[in-house]
Amino acid sequence: MASSQAVEDLQQALPDSRFVFRGSEEYDDLNKTYQSALNVEIHPSCIFLPKSNEDISAFLKHVGLRALSGEIPIAIYGAGCQPLRGCANVQNGITVNLSSLKGLTIGDGRVSIAAGERWGSVYEELGKKGLGVAGGRSAKSGIGGLALEGGLSFQSSRHGFVCDNVINYEVVLASGEIVNANGKENVNLFRALRGGGNNFGIVTRFDFPTFEQGPMYGGSVYYFAPSFPEQIQHLVDELQKPEPSKDTHLMISTGYAAMFGPQMMCQNQLYHNHPEENPAVLRPFTSVSPQLDQLNSMRVLSLAEAAKEQAEDSPVIQRSAYFNTTLKADARILQEAAEIYTAGLEPIKPCQGLICSMKLQPYAHSLLDASTAQGGNSLGLSPANGPLVSVLLLTYWTNKSDEAAVLETMKTILGSIKSRAAARDLLVPYTYMNYAFASQNPIGSYGAENKAELQRVSRRYDPQGLFQKGVPGGFKLFP
Ligand SMILES: Cc1cc2nc3c(=O)[nH]c(=O)nc-3n(C[C@H](O)[C@H](O)[C@H](O)COP(=O)(O)OP(=O)(O)OC[C@H]3O[C@@H](n4cnc5c(N)ncnc54)[C@H](O)[C@@H]3O)c2cc1C
Repeated sequence: MASSQAVEDLQQALPDSRFVFRGSEEYDDLNKTYQSALNVEIHPSCIFLPKSNEDISAFLKHVGLRALSGEIPIAIYGAGCQPLRGCANVQNGITVNLSSLKGLTIGDGRVSIAAGERWGSVYEELGKKGLGVAGGRSAKSGIGGLALEGGLSFQSSRHGFVCDNVINYEVVLASGEIVNANGKENVNLFRALRGGGNNFGIVTRFDFPTFEQGPMYGGSVYYFAPSFPEQIQHLVDELQKPEPSKDTHLMISTGYAAMFGPQMMCQNQLYHNHPEENPAVLRPFTSVSPQLDQLNSMRVLSLAEAAKEQAEDSPVIQRSAYFNTTLKADARILQEAAEIYTAGLEPIKPCQGLICSMKLQPYAHSLLDASTAQGGNSLGLSPANGPLVSVLLLTYWTNKSDEAAVLETMKTILGSIKSRAAARDLLVPYTYMNYAFASQNPIGSYGAENKAELQRVSRRYDPQGLFQKGVPGGFKLFP
């Protein structure tokens, strides 16, 4: 339990309204806002709700030493959407919940977004001015997780990862100092933040360039497993074209949910950044047959509507876990991955509430080019690697008693996919931090040079290691 003396000291320095304690309704409401029950089950001693970057600065100055000594572990919460246990909550510690940091400033070709916003509100506000930004695809999702860990957006084929689009991070460092990191100030910190997670400070504002954004065409198509190999082939064909479209965003999945019966069901989530109905580039994916016509949601829609539909797609609080790897865009290995996944699920199908899918999300050449063109990041991917496909194993289930079996099954499936791909030289050593399970090593996957640089930046901006030892959640830089 965070020592009551420590919390009392903090209350001397900051207004009472910033603290929410166990036993109150507000505490229960806030602690329920995680996407996964694995995080809802964690109970901090106290939730700290800063209203400004000065509040955070005062907080770190007061608790820094106690956090370093292990007396009060700290967690940082953006919107609680990453399912990894303990990445944004901490048992018996203090969770810094950024949800009260609200506000957007739009102008001069950029939007400055406070860390407590969610992508849905950002798209609503920008949409009123005919503008868009390369942010997360779900209206519910927070800014920080994506802008600090990588992030796929509807516009990734043209604009790269979400983190590549950040042009300024306003950060409260371990010392309590508030700095900006961008292409001119604190340049090494800026690059490290693009993919380095919560290892360098608490980011209070994120600035992104905006672009003109009109209506799009997109939505979902549902169909049956026998058509999945053909859809994989279409995906790979599109990625391997000499000039694949920069206007598409494609996700194809195969999965299982008891409500659909014993067979695997498949979903294509398809977007094209123009209002044209069923454009030629999407037709191989929209015309899959047979399909569940009543679930087809393809239509002309705004960016805000697309993000709202994505948010509705994810089940409300369940136990959930993600695992991922990255493969070369090769139809045979992706098909083998689907076969391994389908067979591997059998033992856990009886688990109550099981909903799971293997989602394939391409990193087109153009995405990797845009990433490099925007100054680079810490992720260790280069256009020479591409085109690639991110393989995400997404699992939801109900009972704690099934947890060990579910997680073990996913580890085994992932291990088999990776070894099959490695044997054919189709495995890329990149693990996406947002989608990684605790047993995975995303920072190690960035490569020795990138990891060493992240460690160097950490020693420079956080010499005592507050964000390594005092903020234990998430993926850390030092063993
Ligand atoms: C419904 C849903 C939709 C999703 N859609 C996408 C998508 O379109 N594209 C994609 O790539 N991924 C997507 N994901 C995965 C998503 O990127 C991660 O869950 C992301 O981390 C969520 O961000 P958050 O701010 O809510 O994270 P949180 O869970 O609050 O935090 C995640 C990590 O980031 C740290 N962090 C958060 N904010 C800050 C900050 N301001 N300063 C310092 N550290 C911070 C936390 O400490 C924690 O370690 C989705 C997930 C869900 C549940």
